[in-house]
Amino acid sequence: MGTINQEEAAPDTLIVGAGLAGCLLAWRLRAAGQRVLVVGDSSKPCAASVAAGVINPVTGRWAVKSWQIDTLLPEAEHSYRTIEAELGIQIYHPIPLRRFCQNEADLKRIGRRSRNPRYADVLGKLSPAGEGPEALQDPCGSFEIHGAAYVDLPPLLAAMRADLVAAHCYREEYFDHHALQQGTGGLWQYKNVTAQQVVFCEGAAVTQNPFFPDLAMKPVKGETLAFSCPGLQLPHSIFHNGKWLLPYGENRFRIGATYDEDDLSETPTAAAKAALLEGLAKILKEVPELEIEQHLAGLRPSTVDARPIIGPHPQKKGLYLLNGLGSKGASLAPLMTRQFVDYLLHDHPLDPETDFARFFNANPD
Ligand SMILES: Cc1cc2nc3c(=O)[nH]c(=O)nc-3n(C[C@H](O)[C@H](O)[C@H](O)COP(=O)(O)OP(=O)(O)OC[C@H]3O[C@@H](n4cnc5c(N)ncnc54)[C@H](O)[C@@H]3O)c2cc1C
Repeated sequence: MGTINQEEAAPDTLIVGAGLAGCLLAWRLRAAGQRVLVVGDSSKPCAASVAAGVINPVTGRWAVKSWQIDTLLPEAEHSYRTIEAELGIQIYHPIPLRRFCQNEADLKRIGRRSRNPRYADVLGKLSPAGEGPEALQDPCGSFEIHGAAYVDLPPLLAAMRADLVAAHCYREEYFDHHALQQGTGGLWQYKNVTAQQVVFCEGAAVTQNPFFPDLAMKPVKGETLAFSCPGLQLPHSIFHNGKWLLPYGENRFRIGATYDEDDLSETPTAAAKAALLEGLAKILKEVPELEIEQHLAGLRPSTVDARPIIGPHPQKKGLYLLNGLGSKGASLAPLMTRQFVDYLLHDHPLDPETDFARFFNANPD
């Protein structure tokens, strides 16, 4: 990576950040015949490296369909399947998901919702209390959610970065914003690289980007525990009861995740570990002996209005943002990168709900 060949020296697009958004964007732009250079620092925190990659079409306290999920799901499945075939990896895993009701009102609400035709494709059987799997606490009943999956994000990133390296489209370094200058003809100069445009896909680190001060980001810290537990036998399904429990097979599991808007460090904490173990005790009737293999922490790149932030810098032509994937990057990134590429290369309008301009158009001062 130290040597820079002609292809690397003259990209159309410089992408900052080799996380989920950056890698998927580079993949799409290259597929469209564009020359890209991704500048990423794999020693720095990356939410996708700690995320479980769960895609859940029915979320939140009220168990409603996630925003745009009917469009996001097919795009996600198609994109990940295509990448799997191209790179010879297996990272997209459809999996049943069972969510446990928290009280009687929850059960009634889900009963009503399961008669709503809009939910026919995602809500499955409603089981009365005690009819869930034997090992699980089930005082209020549970229901199946269809269309869920998990995307194994660390191997996806590893394979996509390796592919970029092989194509001389990747530079392993921390992007120094102060080294980015606007050159002649509107081109952007970064050290020895000249590019027509620069797209910042920095996740939560965008809060330190001097080109976008006061961005409407609201990062949320999250922690998960991966553990092995030979005494825990469960059907192949994600179980959601306050926290989610994801079985990987061969006695390995992950429980997640915590939400903390105050502590914006990226280090694992004893308090979150205790909360996750407490969450596990709420899911299981009895917690068998387990061995914690990984305790991971990261920052979700969330935004004040819980929508992605995509689009051009209001003044500096050629600078763009693709961020704000929050806690749902696995489902959002495929469609958001496609819409951005359609905008960049084919002048398609951005979705007003995700367009960065929604902030400064509403507030011209
Ligand atoms: C604990 C936890 C659990 C999660 N679980 C899920 C889940 O189950 N399902 C789901 O869909 N999502 C989940 N998420 C959210 C998901 O991880 C994010 O939505 C997604 O990773 C966002 O992608 P991104 O590319 O915008 O940011 P990131 O994945 O964080 O990538 C940004 C990249 O940019 C790099 N970077 C930043 N600045 C620079 C610089 N100056 N120079 C070089 N590189 C730079 C970073 O190092 C990083 O590699 C979870 C997140 C956390 C923290």
